[in-house]
Amino acid sequence: MKKVNCEEVKLGVHEFLHSELHEQELEAITAHLANCDSCEGHYDIEVILNQVIQRSCDEAPAAELADRVMDRIRSIQQHD
Ligand SMILES: [Zn+2]
Repeated sequence: MKKVNCEEVKLGVHEFLHSELHEQELEAITAHLANCDSCEGHYDIEVILNQVIQRSCDEAPAAELADRVMDRIRSIQQHD
């Protein structure tokens, strides 16, 4: 899987909030967030996802994507 560093996460979260991320990039960022204490302290991924869902509440794909991302985060965290 693609790896990102903390700086890329910082940029990626901003792009994510503007729906400019591809699913693959989003996965790389969420994987980093799930495993990086530094970023975890800065970004609450559930809050970020909720903002995305609220902004695009009529768009089912956004909510479905958020669901998949949360599933992915949970599976990553369970494997630690
Ligand atoms: Zn980080």
